Amino acid sequence: MRFTFCPDCASRLVGRKTGDDGLVPYCEQCKRLWFDMFYNCVIVLARRGDKYALIRQHSGDGSISEDRFVCVSGYIMTNETAEQAAVREVTEELGLKPVKVRLVATYTYQKKQMLMTGFLAELPEGDFSLSDELIAAQWFDEAEVGVRLAGSSVAKLLFNDIKGAKL
Ligand SMILES: [Zn+2]
Repeated sequence: MRFTFCPDCASRLVGRKTGDDGLVPYCEQCKRLWFDMFYNCVIVLARRGDKYALIRQHSGDGSISEDRFVCVSGYIMTNETAEQAAVREVTEELGLKPVKVRLVATYTYQKKQMLMTGFLAELPEGDFSLSDELIAAQWFDEAEVGVRLAGSSVAKLLFNDIKGAKL
């Protein structure tokens, strides 16, 4: 997202030539640059042994089809590390706190202007206790996950990057 007005004082921003970054929105009142903003999110593929847990979510904004399986994901909160967000989101959504999370790679999701940090999470023994946001969670083996995530671009990239990897 490119800022048009200063988020602090609401003045209209002007373009200022800034090194290699070209024209960057600048507030002449606050004397500060406002670089383009994007969201920081985590996407987490949770597994136990050779089984992966995928979820179906209620479609709050209509962008996620309710019959489609996806990975756990969510926004990183202020003052939270990506690793902490990955553990929190899995714990909130599945009711199981990962025993380990491992950074896999980062992905851009341009449609929603997100930078998604991808993790593999190892789940402990126990049953799911689903968040109200979820319709269902289900275990799949590796071959099934590849098929289920076919239409889900970032999740599929994450899965392809960790297929067969050991924590
Ligand atoms: Zn300002």
